[in-house]
Amino acid sequence: MGLINVNSFVAGQWIAADESGRPIASAVTGEPLGLAGRARLDTQGLLDHARLKGGPALRAMTFHERARMLKALALELSRHKEELYRLSHTTGATTPDAMIDIDGGIQTMLVYASKGRREMPDAHIYVDGETEMLSRGGTFAGQHVATPLKGVAVHINAFNFPVWGMLEKLSPALLAGMPAIVKPATATCHVTEQCFRRMIASGILPDGAVQLVTGGLGDLLDRLDYQDVVGFTGSAATALKLRFNPHLIENSVRFVAEQDSLNASVLGPDATPGSPEFDILVKEAVREITAKAGQKCTAIRRLIVPEALFGPVGDAIAERLSKVRIGDPALETTRMGALASAEQKADVLDKVGRIASECRMLTGDPANFDVDGADAERGAFLPPMLLACDDPDEAEIVHSAEAFGPVSTVMPYRDLDQAARLMNRGRGSLVASVITHDPEVARTLVLEAGAAHGRIYVNNRDSAGEATGHGSPLPHMVHGGPGRAGGGEELGGIRGVMHYMQRTAIQGSPDILSAVTGRWIKGAAKPKASAHPFTRGFDALAIGETIEAGPRTVTLEDIEHFAHFTGDTFYAHMDEDAAKANPFFPGRVAHGYLLLSFAAGLFVEPSPGPVLANTGLDGLRFMKPVSPGDAISVSLTVKRKTRRTDEYGEVRWHVAVINQDGDDVAEYELHTMNAYQA
Ligand code: NAP
Repeated sequence: MGLINVNSFVAGQWIAADESGRPIASAVTGEPLGLAGRARLDTQGLLDHARLKGGPALRAMTFHERARMLKALALELSRHKEELYRLSHTTGATTPDAMIDIDGGIQTMLVYASKGRREMPDAHIYVDGETEMLSRGGTFAGQHVATPLKGVAVHINAFNFPVWGMLEKLSPALLAGMPAIVKPATATCHVTEQCFRRMIASGILPDGAVQLVTGGLGDLLDRLDYQDVVGFTGSAATALKLRFNPHLIENSVRFVAEQDSLNASVLGPDATPGSPEFDILVKEAVREITAKAGQKCTAIRRLIVPEALFGPVGDAIAERLSKVRIGDPALETTRMGALASAEQKADVLDKVGRIASECRMLTGDPANFDVDGADAERGAFLPPMLLACDDPDEAEIVHSAEAFGPVSTVMPYRDLDQAARLMNRGRGSLVASVITHDPEVARTLVLEAGAAHGRIYVNNRDSAGEATGHGSPLPHMVHGGPGRAGGGEELGGIRGVMHYMQRTAIQGSPDILSAVTGRWIKGAAKPKASAHPFTRGFDALAIGETIEAGPRTVTLEDIEHFAHFTGDTFYAHMDEDAAKANPFFPGRVAHGYLLLSFAAGLFVEPSPGPVLANTGLDGLRFMKPVSPGDAISVSLTVKRKTRRTDEYGEVRWHVAVINQDGDDVAEYELHTMNAYQA
């Protein structure tokens, strides 16, 4: 492979590295691969382009339009996976390692594309939570909403996931409507750059939505403002340095950090040698030690096992690790490739040396191991290493030094109290796993250790077939952890999008809140529909328009008929004395489901039309019982509309049922799918 000139992409231009660029070397041969970055970077030009071009273009789109853009981008990238796998070999990654990075990143983007369309509106303002009624008379209410920040997201990524690291941050930022500047770690930035090139060449993103800085960031952080966000992933030491930037502090620039983590895995006291849980722990441990040569922020660094299983667990893992074939990551027979750089290898050896000063080495001699198809000395190769810590209460280094490579330490515990204490000695981690078939063990450890861990992964014989693995952050679930892990949070579905938006509490009358949110809010005007809404297409329906129907008197015969027809002969509907004895009822009352059915009978327009299906209802409340002789009326109001497919959209209706005195009897939100045209 010839030398690569890793470019940056600034204000719509590809900028080549110059002789001051940072060197990149092959993880496999140690030979120079190329240079990244240049001494002078037009940082203000980068920020202006994002703020003046990318931001407005993204914010002009709705959440759904941005979600569709993410989907198109992910599908485009999946067409170029093979070239990215090949390039990843130069970073020491085997093809399965590269798939974690590349397929994992694409999958994350697809999940955000889908969640954006399912959980966010086809609009520009995100409504966060329920309306709060702030007044007795209902004329003053509150609603939390979120709007995209008007600055730029600066994403500083770690070397171990050159593609996932970029895509897992870009997906929520772009969905929020915020442009981003991506700064990959230098050691693997040529893989990020190649993926980035594919994104730009696709033409899917608006101008200025994404830019790339390889090499150093120059004075970019000193130019950020309160509308900007820094999303950092890397070591605790770098995070500390960047967090302390006085300019960031002075301007309250959001700083989300994902740092190192001494993740633990606990084997429950219910496990025995040969039990499914014992085998699951061994399998997960071997996978976490060897996948990406242990360079995963979520990898298991500490294996906490019952005293009686300390020896057997260590032996079983050591035995499996000793058979792992190490070599050129491009070879199909290679199970574990190289670390990303000679610097990483040196750092891991230093940390292992320190951990070994208080632990025993069970397997893996870094001075003597075989490497297939590459030179062990020149490439950044290491063998998988397992240590044993006999006295974990007294030990210090194993709970504080992160050897960011194929290294883990097994240690014993006497009881669950001690197991939880040991888990928490990492002082805040991204993930801990608990391998147990005993729900009480899981509950105790969640209670005792939950506060110190961002994610707790419980696995056993029931879930093992489908469980996604200790080390896999999922876009649906929060990734991040307290304390040493950085105190930040990413992903977690739409929670992750909120890092790029400002939540604002809006207070005002229901009419004002309806206009702001684009959905009808209780108490807002209910103009009479010009014609029955079931006869008009989705596009013709206006938010707030209402039809009223009724009254219909509910008779004792109706109640008895409904009871016998459905089989619901509950005493409150059938037995006057028993019903009266109940504190809720004056005597026999109508079934709540009878009222729902009568309500539908009152508001429905029966002819074939644009309403295609009733897909459910939410928030059903029965507020006042209906006695025989009461008369009910119903109002049906268009509450919100969301386009779903090319043919139909979802309409949510507010349905209110009242009695002859105007008292609220029942209310709910009805969901229908409606064709766009009548
Ligand atoms: P690192 O040395 O801290 O570097 C992280 C990023 O910061 C790189 O892009 C680096 O760029 C950049 N950087 C360093 N100094 C900077 C400065 N003064 N201004 C601006 N940017 C600067 O970490 P790493 O070695 O790449 O990654 C390994 C660590 O990341 C491990 O500790 C691991 O646990 C952690 N990690 C955490 C997560 C997570 O989600 N929590 C995920 C992956 C990795 P250069 O490469 O150009 O120096």
